[in-house]
Amino acid sequence: MAVKITNQSLSWTIQNSSELYGIDRWGKGYFTINEKGNISICPNGSNNKSHDLMELLDELESRKLKFPLLIRFDDILEDCLKNLHKAFEKAINDYQYQGKYQGVFPIKCNQQRHVVEELITCGSKWNFGLEAGSKPELLIALSILEDPKALLICNGYKDQRYIETAILARQLGRQPIVVIEQANDVELIIKSSNLLGASPLIGIRAKLSSQSSGRWSSSIGDKSKFGLSIPEILKAIKRLKEANLLNELKLLHFHLGSQINDIGVLKDALQEAGQIYAELINLGAPMGYLDVGGGLGIDYDGSQTASIASTNYSLQNYANDVVATIKECCESKKIPLPTLITESGRAIASHFSILIFNILGKNSLPSDIPKENEKECLSVRNLRETLVHINSLELKQEKDLAKLQEAWNDSLKFKADALAAFRLGYIDLVERAKAEQLTWACAKTIVNQLPKNILLPKELKKLSESLAVTYYANLSVFRSAPDTWAIDQVFPIMPIHRLSKEPKKLGHFADLTCDSDGKLDQFIDNGKIKNLLPLHEFNQNEKYLIGLFLGGAYQEVMGNLHNLFGSTNAVHIRFTENGNYKVEHVIRGNTKSNVLEYLEHDPEILLERLRKSSELAIQGGHLKIHDAQKLIEHVEASLRQSTYLQS
Ligand SMILES: *Cc1c(COP(=O)(O)O)cnc(C)c1O
Repeated sequence: MAVKITNQSLSWTIQNSSELYGIDRWGKGYFTINEKGNISICPNGSNNKSHDLMELLDELESRKLKFPLLIRFDDILEDCLKNLHKAFEKAINDYQYQGKYQGVFPIKCNQQRHVVEELITCGSKWNFGLEAGSKPELLIALSILEDPKALLICNGYKDQRYIETAILARQLGRQPIVVIEQANDVELIIKSSNLLGASPLIGIRAKLSSQSSGRWSSSIGDKSKFGLSIPEILKAIKRLKEANLLNELKLLHFHLGSQINDIGVLKDALQEAGQIYAELINLGAPMGYLDVGGGLGIDYDGSQTASIASTNYSLQNYANDVVATIKECCESKKIPLPTLITESGRAIASHFSILIFNILGKNSLPSDIPKENEKECLSVRNLRETLVHINSLELKQEKDLAKLQEAWNDSLKFKADALAAFRLGYIDLVERAKAEQLTWACAKTIVNQLPKNILLPKELKKLSESLAVTYYANLSVFRSAPDTWAIDQVFPIMPIHRLSKEPKKLGHFADLTCDSDGKLDQFIDNGKIKNLLPLHEFNQNEKYLIGLFLGGAYQEVMGNLHNLFGSTNAVHIRFTENGNYKVEHVIRGNTKSNVLEYLEHDPEILLERLRKSSELAIQGGHLKIHDAQKLIEHVEASLRQSTYLQS
């Protein structure tokens, strides 16, 4: 069927940019594009005043906060926390659940002091608590969580000191619940309780048999790392009873793994957990709490599907399922309804931070047309003719695409001829360079002619991809977005300005590290993944800023020091009533001295050695005193500065 093809691009609008980058699908109303073509931040979702991100950045830059920069919007953090509570409140009302909801934040999701403190302050009206998965995290929770009604869920591997600390914290007036995750924890609890003459509140983590799905599906099932199997649970109950501690068993816990994509998985698990909960009561445990763990997912690509970067359910669906399933289960068993606990991390802490990095340069194929001179070799002449031919082609129907394909095949043939001639010594470097430039000029001209309204044949699609531009990004993915490298996680990534202009290039990002894995080349595509992102033309003297969104959970602490790129600058922003904003905290990124010291290099010794060899060079007459001084000054200044490039 002949399709009429048109290549007129109507004038580009910010709506086109919105659709292209899907910002309305994944931004949850927190991020939009304003009429200037800049990203706007709406801290309380779509119905609130918005703030121009570029204006904010200008002011942060004048405070000498250089890129890459992590901006944390505490209002968004608070709003996500509020939405979680609102969803459970609504579900509890709708289903007339005769019990309550009380959440905790898993510290491992983002341990930064300001983040944890902010959550505890904002969450105090709901007695929001913390979940610790290690001894250092327990220490954070003990120092920050002072609310006697808030829960402190103690997960992870435990030794006797961990458990004794929890028991003593209970006497201090806190509510730590020590969760038995390994069979041996029972004996440790008994031993510590005997020793201190006091006992902790006790929870038990079950290994559910329900099938999970998604990337972290191995967190559940018979072979999972944590939790007790049913026979182990029965044994633990027996031991607790013998030790007179069964009365302290208050909580049943399970965790399905992070980023549950499919709500069906959760429903099965809830039913199974509900039954186990009822059985524990029958066995004589007082119970009172059911902790459904974390796993509430984020719709990174906005597709609302069960794909790896999305979820096929909403926050409200999730809350409804938890509340309704547990209610049904407990009512049929005629037992009191438990207080429901979630340990959602990702769902609370993803949206509030944006990583902003600048582009330092680009690398694209040389496609400018070289000057013509008289004695050009045959392949170069052929390529010039092909280029003229391509320019003269008129595309009217889909079948005309074959002409473009043919012209491209010709160009490739002539380029191969030129390379062969070069290898045999018949043409020089200048001619070879011309052949390459003309080939890419042909490619570019073809790509410019390609119609936008039809599906392209594979070869031509590949051609347009081969012209992709590499944008050099002032960041280390190993430091700032490690999951993109380690587990192919995709985050929404897009320019944060120039959005009223059409992004005409296709590109990907290469980072500062000398590692070929140091790149960002997987982008969200509404349920799929694409390798190239439409981006704007980069000019060396213009600022081009890119945002990586929804990376507030897990990235910072998982980041490493590959090539010794350290932490980036970070700021906490709060918007004020009068439409202004406040910089709440500035956290300076690592200096070069900091990262060198991590690896036992002493910056003073380093400088001293350099001074000594400069002296030798001065004495030997190779180096002027003035230049030696300059070298030392550069190094001294550099040690105090960030590990990233200064623009
Ligand atoms: C990691 C973890 C969580 C948090 O999971 P999210 O997917 O971030 O909600 C909660 N509970 C336990 C036991 C965990 O290990």
